[in-house]
Amino acid sequence: MARVTLDTLRKEFDRGTIVAVDDLDLEIDDGEFVTVVGPSGCGKTTTLRMVAGLEEPTSGTVNFDDEDVTEIHATDRPVAMVFQNYALYPHKTVMENMAFGLKMSTDMTVEERHERVTEMAEMMGIADLLDDKPDELSGGQKQRVALGRAIAREPEVFLFDEPLSNLDAKLRTEMRAEIQKLQKEFGVTAMYVTHDQEEAMTMGDRLAILNDGKLQQVGEPTEVYENPVNEFVAGFIGSPSMNFIDVDVDTDGTTATIRDGDAGLALALSREYVAGHELEGGPYTLGIRPENIGIVEEPTGDETLTATVEVVEPIGSDNYVHLSVNDDFLARAPANVKPEAGDEVGVVFEEEHVHLFDAETGEDVFLTDEEVEAAVA
Ligand code: ATP
Repeated sequence: MARVTLDTLRKEFDRGTIVAVDDLDLEIDDGEFVTVVGPSGCGKTTTLRMVAGLEEPTSGTVNFDDEDVTEIHATDRPVAMVFQNYALYPHKTVMENMAFGLKMSTDMTVEERHERVTEMAEMMGIADLLDDKPDELSGGQKQRVALGRAIAREPEVFLFDEPLSNLDAKLRTEMRAEIQKLQKEFGVTAMYVTHDQEEAMTMGDRLAILNDGKLQQVGEPTEVYENPVNEFVAGFIGSPSMNFIDVDVDTDGTTATIRDGDAGLALALSREYVAGHELEGGPYTLGIRPENIGIVEEPTGDETLTATVEVVEPIGSDNYVHLSVNDDFLARAPANVKPEAGDEVGVVFEEEHVHLFDAETGEDVFLTDEEVEAAVA
């Protein structure tokens, strides 16, 4: 299989007025599964299409192992792509749909093609659908056919463009597991585009997060979740999202006070927390995830702050407690902690999980230049 390397890959549209992909460097190891995630319009599909050979880069290169394939036509690249809309021929049967790619890209005989398709169909649990036309199939079945067709071609690189968006939640979860199983079984290098951060977290060996065509961070899901390099990544990865508050840090860098808040609301930043970092006084954005916030139903005054409960949403295993701290400030409390709307509660931030972002650049202020560089390498 192939290692995929994107080297300063760039795509401009409309005479450079739109920069869809902005000098992207990304390496996907042989057999690795990388999800590319980001909000609508961040350049995910354009990147994937350049890897497939369907879009010509403005500059930069796409390499499979040590071969520069930038100039190689899509049909001559060892890739198979799976789309959101399945892209099946409506007038062809499942067998014909799955065999068609083989007819175009190999010199297999009709018998060999049928044998390969039957084998793939059995593996995908769709052998009894081989004589059906696409409009007789459910969405899940159609996507199984599209996947089977892609695998039958034995590609070196699998490209997925939001393949599960048209399926219901239960089927989506099932297909996620199935795609990962197939990818590992065949050892195919995979690039999977999605706008759904949860899908990206659960599927990829690593995630690559894009915003405005620029790579923000690459890393294993837990690494990105725990150590987001900037405010954008921190807010995009994780559900419910990280809470953000504008704070002022005092001149000796030991206390963060909520701006526009009650003067009593202060967070002592211990020496261990800021150890090794020069934290200058000034404005910052403080970030804390809902699960790193404790609720004290009988406040003692020693908590990080006190707040009024606005709404409590039970989700079974936990309670989501909305608090009157910011526009939307959420704590995730265990099921047995269930204050009522209007209650005054104590709120404790787990200090080791507090993030501080530069108010202007959004960068995590405790990361060194080397750590910031490593985050996109
Ligand atoms: P989505 O999740 O909505 O599909 P995306 O992250 O895949 O978004 P792209 O489709 O790659 O984003 O688009 C990136 C940017 O490039 C967008 O601003 C889009 O409008 C623009 N763009 C994409 N294709 C073209 C095109 N053919 N001509 C002009 N602009 C384009």
